[in-house]
Amino acid sequence: MKSYKDLSKEELLQLQAALEAEYEDAKSKGLNLDMSRGKPAASQFDMEMDIMDVLNSSSDYKTAAGMDCRNYGLVDGIPEAKKLMADMMGVANADNVIVCGNASLSIMYDTISRSMTHGVLGSTPWCKLGKVKFLCPAPGYDRHFSVTEHFGIEMITVPMTPQGPDMDIVEKLVSEDEAVKGIWCVPKYSNPQGYSYSEETVKRFAALKPAAKDFRIFWDNAYVVHHLYEEKQDHILDILAECEKAGNPHIVYEFCSTSKVSFAGAGIAAIASSKENLDDMRKSMTMQTIGYDKINQLRHVRYFKDFDGIEAHMKKHAQIIRPKFEAVLKVLECELSGLEIAQWTEPKGGYFISFEALNGCAKKIVAKCKEAGVVLTGAGATFPYGKDPGDSNIRLAPTFPTPEELRAATDLFVLCVKLVSVEMLLAQQA
Ligand code: PLP
Repeated sequence: MKSYKDLSKEELLQLQAALEAEYEDAKSKGLNLDMSRGKPAASQFDMEMDIMDVLNSSSDYKTAAGMDCRNYGLVDGIPEAKKLMADMMGVANADNVIVCGNASLSIMYDTISRSMTHGVLGSTPWCKLGKVKFLCPAPGYDRHFSVTEHFGIEMITVPMTPQGPDMDIVEKLVSEDEAVKGIWCVPKYSNPQGYSYSEETVKRFAALKPAAKDFRIFWDNAYVVHHLYEEKQDHILDILAECEKAGNPHIVYEFCSTSKVSFAGAGIAAIASSKENLDDMRKSMTMQTIGYDKINQLRHVRYFKDFDGIEAHMKKHAQIIRPKFEAVLKVLECELSGLEIAQWTEPKGGYFISFEALNGCAKKIVAKCKEAGVVLTGAGATFPYGKDPGDSNIRLAPTFPTPEELRAATDLFVLCVKLVSVEMLLAQQA
């Protein structure tokens, strides 16, 4: 296909008229589709409903060690759930894991909240400091940025590369500025690009020399087992082990959940860190709760049994999700490649595709899609404060709609990309 950048003004005007007619036609179809959030589809849940049958009124509710899960106790989570989550995260020792409630985002929020009010391992509470800053590799996960914004933490954007955040910038900022207290990371199949951090990136994280002794890496391993393919999979180093080796054992908190393994918002979530960090956390946690939902922990352990069980289960999820990713990627490839108006990632896992439009086009594309009945993630959401400096990034979330809906939504999306790009190129020629 001929690049839009090589088209004359006349050709662009002609194309614009044709695309506008197509758009009016699409609008008249009255679509009502949602590609905005990375939610699992109902078919994924339908496939795993038997998890609800592993515990019933005649089940034995005791852990292997004889603890009754119906009663208070074991604030750390049941030992077999700690082991399951440790294995899922690739953490060698289950003692380094606490299994909490239903959402890893709550653990991240609580961790920031606790650092604000009580400090980190005896350091000054962040709320008593003049300024607290967080590094935010972007495009990134919007809810991470919302949490830090909520606490008035200043966010500094760090560019992402296919190997992870730009580590030259990370190292410089972390080592020079004592106000930098943390960094958000999604190290595997990142949200939204699907990038996985290289070995070098993980090692450089582990070897950071922060100016602030209470600096922590927030390692959100949300997509650790979320491969799309059996033969093409990414593997990342165990950050806890690397930090230990680098003599930095307290520098990282790792988070993970089964929200997209079992039920979204009704799975189990965990944190992994050094014993000292976990002890610090326990001091507040035991004020918050006498214990999390051990029955759900037991349900997950009985259902998955072990890490092999999780891996086998994730293959079933991949069978449902993979064709959706492939359908979207095929439309993007057929309709947009060679036009020089867009780029996009081709993830091997995770829940998103990251799309780069021409600068200044993302908001208009998202608005045009909405006008014709397709809701996308708000443009800018993938950047701190919702402000994408290039106004170019759009997060595509292919998992929730049905394949038919996806086709219709992606067709409309590429039409809007073309139309808005032509408008932009014409404006540049004017
Ligand atoms: N972390 C990342 C990177 C995510 O993309 C999501 C959900 O989309 C979450 C965390 C939320 O996880 P949870 O349901 O465990 O709070």
